Amino acid sequence: MKTDIEIAQETKMLPITTVASQYGITEDDLELYGKYKAKISNELWQEIKDRPDGKLVLVTAINPTPAGEGKTTTSIGLAQAMTKCGKKAMLALREPSLGPCFGIKGGAAGGGYAQVVPMEDLNLHFTGDFHAITTANNLLAALLDNHIQQGNTLGIDPRQILWKRCLDMNDRVLRNIVVGLGAKADGFVREDHFVITVASEIMAILCLATDMKDLKERLGRIIVAYNFAGEPVTAKDLNAVGSMAALLKDAIKPNLVQTLEHTGALVHGGPFANIAHGCNSVMATRTALKLADVAITEAGFGADLGAEKFFDIKCRKAGIHPDAVVLVATVRALKYNGGVPKDQLSEENLEALKKGIVNLEKHIENIQKYHVPVVVTLNSFLTDTETEYEFIRNFCEERGCEFALSEVWAKGGDGGIELAEKVINTLEKKTSDFAPLYPDEMGISDKIETIAKEIYGAGSVSYSPAAKKAIAKITEMGFGDLPVCMAKTQYSLSDDQKKLGRPEGFDLTVRDAYVCAGAGFVVALTGSIMTMPGLPKKPAADNIDVDENGKIIGLF
Ligand code: ADP
Ligand code: MG
Repeated sequence: MKTDIEIAQETKMLPITTVASQYGITEDDLELYGKYKAKISNELWQEIKDRPDGKLVLVTAINPTPAGEGKTTTSIGLAQAMTKCGKKAMLALREPSLGPCFGIKGGAAGGGYAQVVPMEDLNLHFTGDFHAITTANNLLAALLDNHIQQGNTLGIDPRQILWKRCLDMNDRVLRNIVVGLGAKADGFVREDHFVITVASEIMAILCLATDMKDLKERLGRIIVAYNFAGEPVTAKDLNAVGSMAALLKDAIKPNLVQTLEHTGALVHGGPFANIAHGCNSVMATRTALKLADVAITEAGFGADLGAEKFFDIKCRKAGIHPDAVVLVATVRALKYNGGVPKDQLSEENLEALKKGIVNLEKHIENIQKYHVPVVVTLNSFLTDTETEYEFIRNFCEERGCEFALSEVWAKGGDGGIELAEKVINTLEKKTSDFAPLYPDEMGISDKIETIAKEIYGAGSVSYSPAAKKAIAKITEMGFGDLPVCMAKTQYSLSDDQKKLGRPEGFDLTVRDAYVCAGAGFVVALTGSIMTMPGLPKKPAADNIDVDENGKIIGLF
């Protein structure tokens, strides 16, 4: 079997102008980044914004194994298969982060014969969006520290600085650092912290903003610190908005690339789903809805995180209406949820499958709570067995759930025809009465409890004293009507990554909370979830190299 990168490099890409023309986009509306990547101009949006929307399909999954279970692969394969079925389909996906790329997971541009290309560019620096976001984030940090150094007229309390520096890298030593060491001219000494770029509020803002005006308003609302009187100090107070927005002027435009079979893909923005809201930009999704009959988008990690935030944050705030959900499961992840260790997932194990399938059951029930029709698909791995497939197919059909086996990793679009047909059929025959899980005006603790009990299966929620205090303060500041963005492990429905399957009645612990006033949500931190990941003992970086001709190898 060829590696992902070998398959990607063997593919003859079409010029991006040709891909764009399939959607009626002319060269005037493209800003080319070489032959195979382009940004979409602001003018195009003005031209298409009043068109009716196509249908929106969200791809999500059960709780994953550490390697990821193929949501991106399935999304891409489904778009390729839809194209083969004669539908004008377009993808809206996240840009990969360098953290997982060099860490455990490796690349994130799909896999096998369902990939977006050029995959090396996508996985490495792409069109520089993450660089721009990192820089805007760190400009704000620099302006903040400089303000304190230059006399601190805003009265910023250095003990209450919230804004953190960021880097798109898994680098654990930057979690807690001291800055400003040295002489008087080297600044005030204080404890500081880094988050990974995909956890930065600027990433969330870029992904939720509807245009440059909205982006600037959101940037201005970012709370960077509290002053000595305990009042919030914002990026606007620091006069940082214009310069940050200038750094983001191109990053705000969606990027167009293609799949291995030349279906268009808008790849834009990339917040993680465990520590942030987990979906690509609103602008990319909206653009895809205007340009295609069917827009296919992915939300990160399992449906408890990615789909919940897609519905309750992104769709709610952007007024986006999902028409169907594709729920990806794998035999491997179901066995993992049945307690099988990572290195034994390739062996047939019906007992473990029976034990783990309750995880799928819970995710089906959860999506039904949003009143959106669901199609379950099994992303097939070569090590799966027929007996295992039969068991899962029966399980779904007994529950009145559409089911399709997907072989897009091995066969590309041809391997996704059954899935595409089921999805097309669902879009034509079933209606979506999408509604978010909770109303805006519900209190923050009640929102957290609703998500915990309804989606995770918790029996109760406990708050640390810090979390209680934070939630009271956030409410008092007038942010009580924002949606909640849960920071939780992706491996379990609970806040304990070891509780696999379908844990029930557990107590979820919220250890802290803070408001992202610019992004427009309140983050509730559970468990020991990190906003700056670390590298594993043997990182994926070990295998990555480039030859004398600039050809990259080992990027999966
Ligand atoms: P997710 O989006 O759920 O995190 P990805 O689609 O990125 O998952 O896939 C994760 C990894 O698994 C990729 O390296 C991909 O090549 C691989 N993969 C996905 N589907 C299959 C499959 N059916 N067989 C083998 N490997 C697969
Ligand atoms: Mg993915």
